[in-house]
Amino acid sequence: MADEQPPAPIVRVDQIQDVQRDFYVIPDMGVPLVPNIGIVGGRDAVLVVDTGMGPRNASQVLAKVDEIAQGRKVYLTTTHFHPEHSYGAAVLAEQATFLMNTAQLTDLRVKGPGYLEFFRTFGDSVAAELAGVEFVEPSVTYDQEYQLDLGGRIVTMHATGRAHTKGDQVIRVPDVGAVFCGDLVEESQFSIFPWFPPEDADVSGVRWIAVMEGLMRAGDTLVIPGHGRVSGPDLLEEVHAYLVFLRDEVWSRYRSGMAEDQIVAEVEQMARERHPKWVGQEWIEKGVRCLCAEVPADA
Ligand SMILES: [Zn+2]
Repeated sequence: MADEQPPAPIVRVDQIQDVQRDFYVIPDMGVPLVPNIGIVGGRDAVLVVDTGMGPRNASQVLAKVDEIAQGRKVYLTTTHFHPEHSYGAAVLAEQATFLMNTAQLTDLRVKGPGYLEFFRTFGDSVAAELAGVEFVEPSVTYDQEYQLDLGGRIVTMHATGRAHTKGDQVIRVPDVGAVFCGDLVEESQFSIFPWFPPEDADVSGVRWIAVMEGLMRAGDTLVIPGHGRVSGPDLLEEVHAYLVFLRDEVWSRYRSGMAEDQIVAEVEQMARERHPKWVGQEWIEKGVRCLCAEVPADA
């Protein structure tokens, strides 16, 4: 396993799924560092959600978008600033009007270049897709919520507040009960905690649980995770349950005075036993350490 090179992070636009009328997902095909990408159309315009990593992937996505848009106006948004979700924006924004929440723009400005350098260390196939990445800023930003009229179809964008990153947003398509969750939600994968102190300690397990509760209350029935299969509302409950499990097991051990490394060892083993088929086991430790830092001071 350790010797296997992960597959190159290439978006497979030929695998596009026609999920609903004028509602497509280019699935990640289970490839690490490939996101699920959405294309949602109305009478007058289409919205693209997330870009794939780097200009080559984004060019492929743009060609598919052109094919689907058939001359309609194109909008682009990204769920959060991480490289596979947004580092193709410069290519798509040549044709698309780019919108996002202001907190995500701040993330992009503050951390975007650092993450580019960081991801370039992930191996040759990742570095190859990151060649020529340019950053582009959105022409429209909003603080809390934004409604985009695609013509007979309204799409709503919501800034969730700090969770997986400081600038996460979800994108809803109410007429089909769909929600694009970005990395707030993964399917068959441990929640990704980008806990890299001191460079990046913005992820919050506590806030993330609250965000998941909001997503469950919203009642969407078609859940598009950042990575993994398009699912139903059970996926929101599954991710929430994992985060609550992580918090409770970490906090009870922390409060008993257990050393952090021992908490990591014990909770990692429990998490693996709880979800033997999930990928991304390396994120369990990051989640444990993040939640150790979030134990309330009065405990
Ligand atoms: Zn992410």
